[in-house]
Amino acid sequence: MPLSCQFGYCWIVVFWEYITVNDVLLRMSNIIKRFPGVLALDSAQLEVKAGEVHALLGENGAGKSTLIKVLGGIYRPESGEIEIAGKKVVIGNIHDARLNGVSIIHQELMTIPEMTIADNIFLGRLTTKKGFLDDKAMVKKAQQLLDEAGLELDANDKLGSLSIANQQMIEILRAISFGARIIVMDEPTSSLTDKEVEVLFQAIRKLKATGIGIIYISHRMSELYEISDRITVMRDGKYIGTVDTATSDRSQLISMMVGRELSSFYTKTPYVPDRKILEVEHLSDGKTVRDVSFDVCKGEILGFAGLIGAGRSETMKCLFGLSKRKSGKVLLDGKEITTKNPKSAMQQGIGLVPENRKAEGMYPQRDISFNTSIEMLPYFIKGIHVNKKKELEIVEKYTTKMRVKTPSLSQLISKLSGGNQQKVIISRWLATNPKVLILDEPTRGIDVGAKSEIYAIINELAKEGMSIVFISSELPELINMCDRIVVMNQGKVAGVLDGNFTQEAIMRLATKDIK
Ligand code: ADP
Ligand code: MG
Repeated sequence: MPLSCQFGYCWIVVFWEYITVNDVLLRMSNIIKRFPGVLALDSAQLEVKAGEVHALLGENGAGKSTLIKVLGGIYRPESGEIEIAGKKVVIGNIHDARLNGVSIIHQELMTIPEMTIADNIFLGRLTTKKGFLDDKAMVKKAQQLLDEAGLELDANDKLGSLSIANQQMIEILRAISFGARIIVMDEPTSSLTDKEVEVLFQAIRKLKATGIGIIYISHRMSELYEISDRITVMRDGKYIGTVDTATSDRSQLISMMVGRELSSFYTKTPYVPDRKILEVEHLSDGKTVRDVSFDVCKGEILGFAGLIGAGRSETMKCLFGLSKRKSGKVLLDGKEITTKNPKSAMQQGIGLVPENRKAEGMYPQRDISFNTSIEMLPYFIKGIHVNKKKELEIVEKYTTKMRVKTPSLSQLISKLSGGNQQKVIISRWLATNPKVLILDEPTRGIDVGAKSEIYAIINELAKEGMSIVFISSELPELINMCDRIVVMNQGKVAGVLDGNFTQEAIMRLATKDIK
């Protein structure tokens, strides 16, 4: 063709002779890859066109990363074929991948924060003039790339001084400067703000326009709808199918991912009215939480909806003794309780699974057993001895109840998938035998299969008589799982919905003007 790349310079164009937008750029077929005991790729396939954003979707363990690593020359498959621009290629190592124009932007950034932007872009192939490093030319080229990408940055800036989003952009520029024609992004938005995601998407659209094929891996369905042209779904290492994003629907995609119909996605038993268990009256923390009142009945699932910053998490932290209560009353089973700190809240029968399990809940360097029993540990200690038998009994009981999938309870929690980590943290609170369990965004960042399981478990707990407070930013899960929904707005209760929930009704309360 050749395409003129908006970002690049002439030597990028070398690869582009034989391919135009919409031609097949990459075809992987019959890829088989085994790890000890696992068939990670079972005849997997993928086809990407030039100028296309192709999303790869599948639950944890579906084989997405392995497929990408085969493409990137990190793993050698047992069998299978890779064609790039109509030519059969063998990608035996990272170098081969690069020569064939494949560039992978990994989840963990691979750049070096102490070096400058220019150094990072040209990392591993510093330009030389008569055998010396030609710093000037390098900086000039780097600056040109930055300017063309519309990034207001100086090529001499240290990479470490940039936001994660900008560091990621530098990785993209690095890929472009290598002459990449297939760029893979593995969960690129997991640590970006909404605004940064928009900037990334703009960059992706520019790349598309130059005929680069982009493989985009993400859990976030709404993002796939915004940015991708086609979606390939994988399950258990197998190719399930490829759909055009524009004509596909979410429930179809979810059934493809989990291998069953969506009707069984939410489990909810009709609620039988019972007595009030928790009553919160005029709770304020003097800052975000303003005069909040609500109640929860025995066996009820009470949802909390609201925009980010509406004060839902703060309300629960105040109630749980993690932040100071300025005024207000809390009654449990009709008796007033003081919750000076989490320990007293716990002893009185309240449990809280925090929003950010990585920062607030998990002990990543410890095993499942420790992570489950930590709150109960003081009760297993007699003198200087821990009653190991009792501890194990409790750990086994609750990890089984929560269906934690692991070969052993001495597995490090950080080795588990997000869904299983969350189940361990919930097990910990179940072990304290609470009357009221507060779950703050319990399904955030976990795949759909694990979500569905967590819904089933929440339903089961409520059926057994536990009261659940369920904070979520995903309206469909609140609507399908809750008996009533409290909508918060600017630190106050904007309204309580009792059945017949609609997204519109919730959003109206969440966004109305509040005095
Ligand atoms: P995804 O990226 O879709 O979550 P992966 O490609 O990481 O899935 O994993 C696919 C399967 O291969 C899983 O069962 C996983 O446990 C296994 N697996 C991945 N990498 C390795 C490895 N280096 N050693 C052993 N097993 C692995
Ligand atoms: Mg992966």
